[in-house]
Order: sequence, then C-alpha cells, then structure tokens
Amino acid sequence: PGYISTRRRDYSSRGVGRVPVGIGSRRLRIVVTGGAGFVGSHLVDKLIGRGNEVIVIDNFFTGRKENLVHLFGNSRFELIRHDVVEPILLEVDQIYHLACPASPVHYKYNPTNVMGTLNMLGLAKRIGARFLLTSTSEVYGDPLEHPQKETYWGNVNPIGERSCYDEGKRTAETLTMDYHRGAGVEVRIARIFNTYGPRMCLDDGRVVSNFVAQAIRKQPLTVYGDGKQTRSFQYVSDLVNGLVALMDGEHVGPFNLGNPGEFTMLELAQVVKETIDSSATIEYKPNTADDPHMRKPDISKAKELLNWEPKVPLREGLPLMVNDFRNRILNEDEGKGM
Ligand code: NAD
Ligand code: UDP
Ligand code: UDP
Repeated sequence: PGYISTRRRDYSSRGVGRVPVGIGSRRLRIVVTGGAGFVGSHLVDKLIGRGNEVIVIDNFFTGRKENLVHLFGNSRFELIRHDVVEPILLEVDQIYHLACPASPVHYKYNPTNVMGTLNMLGLAKRIGARFLLTSTSEVYGDPLEHPQKETYWGNVNPIGERSCYDEGKRTAETLTMDYHRGAGVEVRIARIFNTYGPRMCLDDGRVVSNFVAQAIRKQPLTVYGDGKQTRSFQYVSDLVNGLVALMDGEHVGPFNLGNPGEFTMLELAQVVKETIDSSATIEYKPNTADDPHMRKPDISKAKELLNWEPKVPLREGLPLMVNDFRNRILNEDEGKGM
C-alpha cells in the first residue's frame, strides 16, 4: 500500500529459460544490498563482468567504498547509500539481499535481518523481482547432526549472545518463505558456510581474517578454547558462483553453499603459518559462549540441483588473500604515521 509502480514491465519472459544477461533486448537490472561488503563486492564484480546493470544499496556499516571504487566510472553501476531498515523504491529484476551486520563484533547492533529483509521482500513483491536471501550455516546453531543437510532444523539458543544473528537469519528465512507462499514472490535461499578471501573486513573478529592479519603483523595467532572446534572454509569465488547459479536456477532452496573440507582451528593456524610465517606462535584465549563445536556442509543438494561445487581448497585459496591483507595493513600503518 502506498507504493505505485511508475513503470509497467512485461515480465512474461521471466522464469524458465531466461538469459542471465537481460530480458529480451533489455539488460537484466540487479540490486545487491550489502554490495560494498566482502561477499557483495565480489558478487557485483561477477554481475558487471557478465554484462548486467547493478545497483548497490549499502549504508557502509561494515562495507567500504574502496571495495567498489574500480567500478565508479562504469555506466552499468550505481551505488546508493541507504539503510535497508528504511523502505526504498526501485525497479529491478533481481534482488540479492546480503545487507547484514555479519560478524560477531557487529551483529548485535541492529535489526537489519528482520526489518531489512521485510523491506526487500516488500520491494520484490511490488515489482515482481526475484529475491535471494543470503542466510547462514548459523541457522543450524551448535548442530547435533554432522555434516549438516538442509533438512536439519538446527540447535539454536534463542536467548544467547549469538541469537541476534542466528535467530535473525532464521526469521529472515521464515519471512522469505511466507512471501513466497503468501504473495507468490520468486525466492531463493542460500545457507552460506564460513567464507574467506580478499576484501574481508580486517578487524571483524572472524577466525581467518584474525589469523591472517595476526601472522602479517607478527602477532600470535589467537586460538579460542582448545582449538579443536571445526569449521569448513570456502573461497569467495566459489560462493559467488553458487549464489549466481542459485539465483538463475529454478530451485527455491534452501541450499548449503560451502566447502566440505573440514579443519580444526589448530589445523587452520597451521595452514596460516605455512602460508605466511612459519615462526608464528599461538596464544590460547577463552572461547565465546554458545560456540558451535563443529560445522561442515553436506552439499549434495547443490551439486545435484544447481550443478555447483566449490573448486578452491583452503591451501590454494588462503594465499590469494595475503597480498590484499598486506597492502591494507601497510596502508593502515602508514596512516598512523608508523
Ligand atoms: P560484510 O560485513 O562484508 O558485508 C555486509 C554488508 O552489508 C556491508 O557492506 C554493510 O555495510 C552492509 N550493511 C549492513 N547493514 C546494512 C543496512 N542496514 N543497510 C544497508 N547495508 C547494510 O559481510 P559479508 O561476509 O560480505 O556477508 C554478506 C552476507 O553473507 C551477509 O548476509 C552474511 O550474513 C552472509 N554470510 C556470510 C558468511 C561469511 O563467511 N562471509 C557466512 C554466512 C553468511
Ligand atoms: N517496501 C519497500 N519498497 C517497496 C515496497 C515495499 O521498501 O517498493 C517495504 C514497505 O515499507 C514495508 C515492507 O516493504 O515496510 C513490506 O511491504 P509489504 O507491501 O509486503 O507489506 P505492507 O506494507 O503491506 O505491510
Ligand atoms: N576463533 C578463534 N580465534 C579467533 C577468532 C575465532 O579461534 O581469533 C574461533 C571461534 O571461536 C570459532 C571459529 O574460530 O570457533 C570460527 O569463528 P568465526 O567467528 O570466524 O566464525 P563462526 O563462529 O561464525 O563460524
């Protein structure tokens, strides 16, 4: 209510057999919320690279203009500073909804997962756009099933310190399915497992960015708890390929998008040492509350229905982020007059 579409489009050619570059002679126009962030900016590069028009919506909460600055002269690219918690009017064909305070140090702070997702679904409904939610493996909580399949309902503490993120994403999935069933919105849900690569936030507390930055700064690698908890680490280009395959495919999901290679935090520390500095030391710190003991995706569903699987193992992907981290750490130090 209150929103009047100013443009009428023929969406009859949407759906099955659609060409990803455009509809008919017109270019596909795509919104990426959170597009100035780590995953978002790599996704935008891919979409621009294949000829789409891309509008990024970002409030720069954790994202950075530097991640997109190489696109500023491109006539197919637009950047809007906007908080998705507020409504917005746009006319597009697809919405990739990534905006979210995504890391442990940030995610306590705002209601983006619920209000932002609601607004983007309202937008998708009004204009008949296809909507993709980037949910998370955290919906499985501290899982009692291993590896995790999409059919697993999860083991989440509703009142813990992490709940804002876990439950926020679970609510976002619920809203997405409600808009799909109730309003006929075309939706896609990705459950993303731990992802790393260039442009990751330097100091957002995630384990890969912490270890890599610590090794470069010649600081000890901080292992929380006994370091025997496991995660499965996916290189960002694999994730981006999965997101695009999901959006352009015919299946709603949810789909696990992650690399099944499973590592303890001590093993990860070892790979970081081999890659960056073999003399790096380890410092043990207390673990955070409700930390999942293990996590590994079962990706059979994505393999079968999206014809997707990750290609970059940890030992090949980790070196690909080191130069980017080195340069940013060097710039920071110069900024401080060091
Ligand atoms: P990121 O912090 O780099 O990117 C998030 C982006 O959203 C930032 O650019 C930030 O400024 C923007 N944003 C936050 N709140 C906003 C708001 N209210 N309005 C507009 N923009 C806002 O994080 P990322 O790792 O790139 O994550 C992208 C998405 O993928 C998130 O939804 C996250 O939950 C999901 N995800 C990521 C991982 C991972 O390992 N990176 C794992 C699971 C899920
Ligand atoms: N919304 C938006 N842009 C639009 C259409 C809707 O931001 O083009 C927002 C709107 O402000 C509302 C939310 O999306 O808060 C859900 O919209 P919907 O129409 O589904 O719900 P209603 O407004 O009927 O509660
Ligand atoms: N972790 C760690 N050292 C750090 C940061 C994190 O040992 O400097 C651990 C953390 O306790 C968790 C794992 O690494 O067990 C992954 O943490 P991250 O925040 O990267 O991702 P998530 O917990 O969301 O999977």
